[in-house]
Amino acid sequence: MKLITIRSQILEVADRWREQYAMRYADDLDKMKILRELEKLDKETATAKDVENIIGNNSWACKQECRECKKNYDSIVELGDLPDYESSTTWVCLKCLKKAVELFDEAESLPHPTKSAPVADENEGKSKAR
Ligand SMILES: [Zn+2]
Repeated sequence: MKLITIRSQILEVADRWREQYAMRYADDLDKMKILRELEKLDKETATAKDVENIIGNNSWACKQECRECKKNYDSIVELGDLPDYESSTTWVCLKCLKKAVELFDEAESLPHPTKSAPVADENEGKSKAR
């Protein structure tokens, strides 16, 4: 489980770029130039726009889609496997997580299915019928 924010994406952008391109595209001067610029970036203060200006698109530091409500948010939680091809990973916003907690709360407000109270009532009814 991991919280993904615009800032966390900026903090990890050079590492993610290196992982994606440094080995396979080591001969690609443009990709290596971008890596050097990302490494120089002050990631504590840099903005998403700074990252976009270096890379040329905004997909490396941007709002992320909640897979439950399909809306985009600055912050989402990654759940499940580490993301990879065919991994069981999902991303959920705070609103949807709160709705999920409400489902647990609603379920807990109902009589517990393994408690014996209803069975005791049944036995009482039988004994009265005798
Ligand atoms: Zn959502």
